[in-house]
Amino acid sequence: MQRILSEKAYKEAVKYIPGGVNSPVRALRSVGAEPLFISKANGVTLTDIDGNELTDFCLSWGVFILGHNHKLVNETVKNAIDLGTSYGIPTLQETQLARLLVESVPSLEKVRFVSSGTEAVMSAIRVARGFTRRNIIVKFDGCYHGHADHLLVSAGSGVAQLNASSSSGIPEDFTKYTLSLPFNDIELVKAVFEEHGDDIAAVIIEPVAANMGVILLQAGFLKDLRTITKKYGALLIFDEVITGFRLALGGAQERFGITPDLSTFGKIIGGGFPAAAFGGRADVMAVLAPDGPVYQAGTLSGNPIAMAAGIQTLQLLQQPDFYKNLESKSNLFITELKDIIKGKSIVLNHVGSMFTLFFADHEIRNFADVKRSDTERFARFFRALLHENIYFSPSAYETSFISAAHTGQQLEQTLSILKKVISTI
Ligand SMILES: *Cc1c(COP(=O)(O)O)cnc(C)c1O
Repeated sequence: MQRILSEKAYKEAVKYIPGGVNSPVRALRSVGAEPLFISKANGVTLTDIDGNELTDFCLSWGVFILGHNHKLVNETVKNAIDLGTSYGIPTLQETQLARLLVESVPSLEKVRFVSSGTEAVMSAIRVARGFTRRNIIVKFDGCYHGHADHLLVSAGSGVAQLNASSSSGIPEDFTKYTLSLPFNDIELVKAVFEEHGDDIAAVIIEPVAANMGVILLQAGFLKDLRTITKKYGALLIFDEVITGFRLALGGAQERFGITPDLSTFGKIIGGGFPAAAFGGRADVMAVLAPDGPVYQAGTLSGNPIAMAAGIQTLQLLQQPDFYKNLESKSNLFITELKDIIKGKSIVLNHVGSMFTLFFADHEIRNFADVKRSDTERFARFFRALLHENIYFSPSAYETSFISAAHTGQQLEQTLSILKKVISTI
């Protein structure tokens, strides 16, 4: 298993692209490896430019719940391309995908498309501020909501690997209305609302944390957030960019039965193309231009190729028992994995088809717990898996995913490799 061509490609890439990558985690620095260069993918198999075939559990960060290169999605996209790829004028497909979203997700009455999760969250926050005429946003440590200035405060994902708690290049004044609280501590939320309640526009949360690895909320936490925000007239925003169409057709809000005012979506809904969305209560979304005073726009927003991929993907996810089957497949894998890690100082957090292995002896309930885990050991684990051509999400702060395309045989084989690798690291 050699990566000679990837090494060469990386040397060439760094000449022109900062760090050789267009999104920092791809550089694989936190796991002490060098980036792979991929030439193609099919199902859950990635082929790198050296010809190695890897079994993918990152799946473009959760995008490919149906696996890569899905035949029907691709056919739909190819047909769409023949009709022109962007008009900057409305299409029927935008309404069709919007209708699919509204019908699938409990809280959605109105929805608008953008091109990335970052944009979706940024826009939802602007809407919340415009609607409430308040400034403060409450978020949670280790939750990642894209790379907008005011949200890079104690953020998870790649930001968590920087030494500073947040990004450089952001004036302090830009984050002065962002309060970041520890995950799973409702008493602190109450205290913050007692002090600032009348100035808080919204609370934003990943309803299952996925960008510091999988962390579930304690029972009642989301319900308490719903009650508190309502009491103070603040909006509750679920960032479902990962959990949307992952944990259920209606996302985490359906799974946990809590209805936020606004939600954001990305990853899965573009079917591998740049599409994301934000939406929620009709009266709240009514502040958006051209109906209202909150400006938000995008040249390629709702572009027909991404819409076509999204529509076809969601239609496949709507098939009866899709989530039931994905869940039982995932449960089988998780149950066997639990056996493998027994007594190995590893904590397995999981929900549905999302999971993270933390190298720690303590329970992982928040970002501070994650940071006390053994990231060096994770790095060895990741590299050992890579050596065996298994590609987990490449950071101790990320989530790995099981897709409908993983076969029983691929999962069994992965488990036997995991068993071997875990006994050696
Ligand atoms: C990935 C992600 C984002 C950002 O989406 P991009 O498309 O990368 O801009 C926002 N929120 C959550 C929860 C995410 O996982």
